[in-house]
Amino acid sequence: MDLNAHLKLPLFRKIASAAAELNLPVYVVGGYVRDIFLHRASKDIDFVVVGDGVEVASLFASKLSGHHKVSVFKNFGTAMVHYRDYQLEFVGARKESYRPESRKPEVMGGTLEDDQNRRDFTVNALAISLNEDDYGTLVDPFNGINDLNEKILRTPLNPDVTFSDDPLRMMRAIRFSTQLGFDILPETFEAIQRNRERIKIVSGERVSEELNKIILSGKPSVGFKLLDEAGLLELIFPQFLDLKGAETKDGKGHKDNFYHTLEVLDRIAPNTSDLWLRWAAILHDIGKPATRRFLPDQGWTFHGHEVKGSRMVPQIFRQLRLPLNEKMKYVQKIVFLHLRPIVLSEEEVTDSAIRRLLFEAGDDIDDLMTLCEADITSKNPEKVKRYLANFSLVRQKLREIEEKDKLRNWQPPITGELIMEAFGLSPGKEVGLIKTAIREAILDGKLGNNFDEAYLFMIAEGKSMGLLPVNEPF
Ligand code: ATP
Ligand code: MG
Repeated sequence: MDLNAHLKLPLFRKIASAAAELNLPVYVVGGYVRDIFLHRASKDIDFVVVGDGVEVASLFASKLSGHHKVSVFKNFGTAMVHYRDYQLEFVGARKESYRPESRKPEVMGGTLEDDQNRRDFTVNALAISLNEDDYGTLVDPFNGINDLNEKILRTPLNPDVTFSDDPLRMMRAIRFSTQLGFDILPETFEAIQRNRERIKIVSGERVSEELNKIILSGKPSVGFKLLDEAGLLELIFPQFLDLKGAETKDGKGHKDNFYHTLEVLDRIAPNTSDLWLRWAAILHDIGKPATRRFLPDQGWTFHGHEVKGSRMVPQIFRQLRLPLNEKMKYVQKIVFLHLRPIVLSEEEVTDSAIRRLLFEAGDDIDDLMTLCEADITSKNPEKVKRYLANFSLVRQKLREIEEKDKLRNWQPPITGELIMEAFGLSPGKEVGLIKTAIREAILDGKLGNNFDEAYLFMIAEGKSMGLLPVNEPF
């Protein structure tokens, strides 16, 4: 839909007539206008009213058929209306002044121009009039249209002022650059580098909200490289930078795990839009710097980096204000298991190894395989070809064994209670030992996955430990 088609939408006509009735000027503004020109569909529309946004929102809502709730926010004349699948936000035009220690400005009523001045980028400061005398006119004081055509992000005012006032805008610049494929103007980028320390006054939640949008973009490496170049990455997520650097000793080298991780992240992007699987990709090798050793006979090793990495996840999640819930546990689990399918694809693929992997990964097996496939990034095309071929064998085996044994979310057929009952035991070490022995025997394929076989095995196992069954069943 082009601009003219948008302007004919009944939605805009209705808002225009409500504002006209109140004699208050109203404009469509910000991201929605930018996205019209970029042909990106959006359901969030911001309106700026020169006057009270709540009045226009209320009159507009009252003219709609059916009841439409107007949610009013405490801050300066802001109201929200849901209309069909649109989110409409009405804000009074404002002028802002900032204090150095906070990104929350003092706000006072202002003109449309004041309101455009306080916006982050010229391409986000475009406004379209919905007023009778100039309906549909673009109000573009900073030549944002030109920047839009040239795909440039530039601040409307002196960038040092814009970024120092609200340092979140530095994250937004990099996020928009990554999402939209725009370049940040060199002067603008230099101002980010100069003001990077100001990021400290922004709450962790806001920073990671932008970081997550970068991670969810089509090519997240772009954003991480910019964050690094700007000097922001070292302030918000220094552990990631510790992965940097390829080293060579005695003619043996290891790859640069920072760029490797970014490659994995870009490779997984087309295959999943799940934020947490993408986070697992970012963190899969995070334990490498702490476990790196040089052994003269083996070269560089990172033994146990998956264990170390999985243990580092909670601290990183806390630091980045990511949720400390089952999403975090999921990331830990994928990091912990990330080597397993690769190891399988290097060795002969035995049924019992496959069974174990299915048992441990449970419902996350497909996600784990998606990560592992993205993790194959060798520069040697022969090696990649061989790995991928073996990998599809692992996938096929996984399907076969899953079909046969149904080991996803599997529980062994004998419970702890049953073991206690059979030998007249109270809870204790023996129960655990027998339970583990049964599980291992089934996973190893030595024992059928059914109650009768497992029951007999349990009796035999107990006896070998010197226990006596209460009733011999057979
Ligand atoms: P998207 O919705 O795709 O994230 P957007 O540009 O619509 O992009 P919003 O966060 O929805 O971004 O904000 C709407 C508009 O409000 C922006 O286009 C911009 O004009 C203004 N804006 C938002 N946040 C800021 C900020 N921190 N500083 C200055 N202006 C801002
Ligand atoms: Mg928006």
